Order: sequence, then C-alpha cells, then structure tokens
Amino acid sequence: MSTPKQVIEMARKAGARMVDIKFVDTFGTWQHFTCPIEELTEEVFSEGFGFDGSSIRGWKSIEASDMLALPDPATAFIDPFNAVPTLSLTCTIHETGTREPYIRDPRGIAQRAERYLEATGIGDTAYFGPEAEFFIFDNVQYDSRANGCFYTVDSIEGVWNTGREEHPSLGYKIRHKEGYFPVPPADTQQDIRNEMALTMMQLGVKVERQHHEVATAGQAEIDYRFDTLVRAADAMMVFKYVVKNVARKHGKTATFMPKPLFGDNGSGMHTHISLWKKGKPLFAGNEYAGLSELALYFIGGLLKHARALCAICNPTTNSYKRLVPGYEAPVNLAYSARNRSAAVRIPTYSENPKARRLEYRPPDPAANPYLAFAALLMAGLDGIQNKIHPGEPLDKNIYELPPEELKRVPQVAGSLLEAIEALEQDHEFLLKGDVFTREFLEMWAAMKRKEHDAIRLRPHPYEFFLYYDV
Ligand code: GLN
Ligand code: MG
Ligand code: MG
Ligand code: MG
Repeated sequence: MSTPKQVIEMARKAGARMVDIKFVDTFGTWQHFTCPIEELTEEVFSEGFGFDGSSIRGWKSIEASDMLALPDPATAFIDPFNAVPTLSLTCTIHETGTREPYIRDPRGIAQRAERYLEATGIGDTAYFGPEAEFFIFDNVQYDSRANGCFYTVDSIEGVWNTGREEHPSLGYKIRHKEGYFPVPPADTQQDIRNEMALTMMQLGVKVERQHHEVATAGQAEIDYRFDTLVRAADAMMVFKYVVKNVARKHGKTATFMPKPLFGDNGSGMHTHISLWKKGKPLFAGNEYAGLSELALYFIGGLLKHARALCAICNPTTNSYKRLVPGYEAPVNLAYSARNRSAAVRIPTYSENPKARRLEYRPPDPAANPYLAFAALLMAGLDGIQNKIHPGEPLDKNIYELPPEELKRVPQVAGSLLEAIEALEQDHEFLLKGDVFTREFLEMWAAMKRKEHDAIRLRPHPYEFFLYYDV
C-alpha cells in the first residue's frame, strides 16, 4: 500500500468501520487510539491526527503536550484481533506548530538513520533481518506482595529455580537446553506457532521459518525476511503484536523478556545486517569469510561501540542475565565465521555475494527495534568512516579459551548500569546527522538508571533462599 488513496480504498473494500492509529513509544511498545473510518481522509495522512502526548512514558510534559500522529500508508493492515473491522496504521510523530519530527519518536530516529546512510555516500540501503526469540507460557502469576515479582509458570519449573517449585508436567518434558527441536508430542506448540506465522503473513510479514527454540518447553523463534531498516522494525512491531495476541487467544501469554528462566537459554534478537549501494552488496569481497574490507570496518565499529550499544540493544536489567557464558548468548566481543559464541558471526550457508551479511548476536527482543537498528547502523558506519579494523577473527570456541587468552578479549556490559555508563562515555557516533540527540540519550540514560535502581532497591525472592536463615 503506497498511497493514502489506496489505503482508503483497501479499507472500504474490507468494510472497515474504525481506524486504529498506532505509534511506537520510547521503549518500543505500540500505543494506540481509534477513530471512525470517516475520519481517515487523504489530507489526514499529511496533516496528522492530534493527540495528547503527555502521558506517554518519556515524552512531553503537561505544558507542551499537543502532538501530531502522521499515518504511514505503507503500514496499513486490517487488524485481525479486533471484532469490529478495523484498519490499522502506524504513525510517525511530529510537533504541532513547527511540524518537525518529534526528536524522541523512535520511528523518526530510524528514518533519520536511513537518511544519514545515504548522506554519507557509503551506501543507499541497509538491510536488517532480526531473529526474535520468545517464550510462550501457560500461566504467569504476579504477586503484588513481592513488589510485582512473579512466582510460577505452570508449564515449567518455578522461575527462580530454587529446586523447590517443580510443577508436574503431562507427557514428554523437554529437558533444559534440549528444545531445539524434537517433533510433537514433545513440541506442544507447533499449532500455535503456525497460527502466529500465518497471521503475520496475512499482515505482510514475510515469514521464512518457525521453530521451537533451545530452552525447555515453551521457547520459540519465528524468522522473517530481511528488509530495509524502518520496514524491518515495523515488521517487528507487527510480529510482537501477533505473538502476544495469538497467545492470549489460546489462554497463554508470550514474553520477550530476555531471560525468564534461570539455568536455561534466554531469548535473543540476533540481527543480520548488510549494506548495499545501487543494487550492489557492499559486504561481499575477498577478505575473511568472503567479506569486503568495508564489512570488516563495519564489524570494527560494532565491536568498538558494543558496550555502549548494549544500553540500547539490551535495555533491561534482565538483559544481563542472558548475556552470560554457556547459553549461546555472546559474552565476548569478537567475530568469527564459525563461532556462535562470538558477538559477530558471519553466516556461511551461501557462497552468493548477495547473501553476504553479518549477524550481530548481542541484541535481545526487549530492545526497541527502531532504536536498536539505528544504533547498529551508526556504529557500523562509524567503523567504516574511521577505518576501524576489527583485528583477527576468533575461530575457537570462546567459551573454552584458556583464561590468559580470554582476558584479552573485551566483553559485553555486565549490567544495565555498566551499559548506561558506557553509553554516557561513548555516544558521539550516535549523534552524527542528528540521528539521536543528546537530549534523547540523556532521557534514555535517566530512565534506564531508574530501572536499575528499581531492581537494586528491592529484596529479591532468591535472597530469601540464600539468607533467610543466616
Ligand atoms: N537463545 C540464544 C541467545 O540468547 C540463541 C540460540 C540460537 O539461536 N542459536 O542468543
Ligand atoms: Mg535463528
Ligand atoms: Mg535462535
Ligand atoms: Mg541466529
């Protein structure tokens, strides 16, 4: 759908009675309001829907809260989760008065990153292919007395894994780290994943594969075809919406939190990246693993800024419970064609130069995809602009390196606080082209510090196990 006219025509044909106006908040959650379809005129695509932005987390204060939501015709779909036929549109956010893009709108940041790429002359297109993993659980109970901590997940062991909260399981129980990927009846979620995949496809997401993931019963992955930066992030929003709503429909709940279970794999959002210019793949060449020198510099930029990138690509306190050795999540900042324990992997499934790409493995699906992809692009471009060579590849299993060698390999941030501090020291690469602004990054750091404190200040349930009888 490329023009407002086509969208209005599509809505009419589908019998849409309402139009749902969606936009992305700072943290990557869709927010929405809904209008009768008659409100959707061709003009409103450029004039925007007015709304009050003051209650959106991290946005305008009460004194200056009027904002405009401009629908993007390319994001139109008929919402399958609404009983009333409803057209869905995703918007970018603009200021009233100046009508400038709102600098905290993540979708605007992603658009500026794409424009910055073109402005550098290095390339004209960056492709992103995220592989988001998630868990589908039967029932999660919140306990308000534990300050909102949750206690049990019915289908599997207790979340805190004290060894005392085992729940009975009917049938074949997948052992820890053995979910990848026996057939049913061990895999009990084949049908629900298929329903998720088919619903995504109905909404324009080009699904390529779905499968059970490594963690014990309940971890899933659905992959879709790479796309340009903003389009790939748009697709991730549809992806999460479909996953959560299909789960809900079946009386289940899905979570993208990076590490819901101790002792088992967490959920990553490995991100495949390639740069193109005039239809030519810029990452293909005669260097290591069929990469170009430019691709190596891109890797150099990613690895140099990796700790700061953590603040955006691994933006929760829980993210750092995933980034530990032994669970296929990267810890060491290195690159390799073979090695899945390296932060940057070069997939070698295909010899075709068009398939030449890198897989950046640290991100997790708690990240706002617009901010994450924009930041990754900016880090890689900085590597190219400054010819940052990434050094030698690490083709050994990094988890098994002798300690002396391992000491020389830098690591991802160890906590959200470390990541914020890294971002505070290293963010000039994000400010180029006004893609991110200082103001945005300061707001981000302040909000993330609050989350770090929220966890730091609360007694943890596991502390009772360790210390109650001291
Ligand atoms: N779940 C792993 C992670 O946290 C990845 C597993 C895989 O896809 N090989 O990154
Ligand atoms: Mg995968
Ligand atoms: Mg996976
Ligand atoms: Mg992968």
